[in-house]
Amino acid sequence: MAVVYLSLGSNIGDRVGYIQQAVKLLQVGGNVNPVRFSTLYETEPWGNKHQEWFLNAVVEAKTILSPVELLHHCQDIEQKLGRVREGVPHWGQRTVDIDILLYNNDIIDLPELTIPHKHMHKRAFVLVPLLELIPLFKHPVTGKTMSELHDELAQPEDVFLYGTIGV
Ligand code: ATP
Ligand code: CA
Ligand code: CA
Repeated sequence: MAVVYLSLGSNIGDRVGYIQQAVKLLQVGGNVNPVRFSTLYETEPWGNKHQEWFLNAVVEAKTILSPVELLHHCQDIEQKLGRVREGVPHWGQRTVDIDILLYNNDIIDLPELTIPHKHMHKRAFVLVPLLELIPLFKHPVTGKTMSELHDELAQPEDVFLYGTIGV
């Protein structure tokens, strides 16, 4: 059984609904069992500013899946919830995005999967929710806590409290 942190994001349509449905679908088959949720945040787009603002949250969960199985489970859910990839720029709009931020203390470097997520330490929309859950957890590669990584953000994008996930 692994402890994982998943980043959920949505910036099209019923953003809250997509995030809630993603949480429900993660649990299908007992694959992923949520333990705690961060607050939901409304966040300025990161990397590609010309799109609607996002809702983001982080889920702490236990899973029986291997890292690659978990990635595929997340990708299946993105597809079920109507995520379109064709013709959408990198970091562009999406009904739902599910990224694996952390998988235990593991360091994984495969063509299709990098854990810890390769951009997590640069993103306020990831670090702010992580601060609620695991402020003192050390990033397995850099050894810095989530709190230290957050303090080091030079120009963090805007992140505002929005509400609870409500699942
Ligand atoms: P970013 O990964 O910078 O947040 P994105 O989420 O928009 O960007 P996607 O199009 O959703 O990017 O995913 C691109 C690829 O990233 C996926 O096909 C997947 O194989 C790969 N990937 C690598 N590491 C991870 C991870 N930790 N979690 C999710 N996907 C990952
Ligand atoms: Ca992402
Ligand atoms: Ca993704």
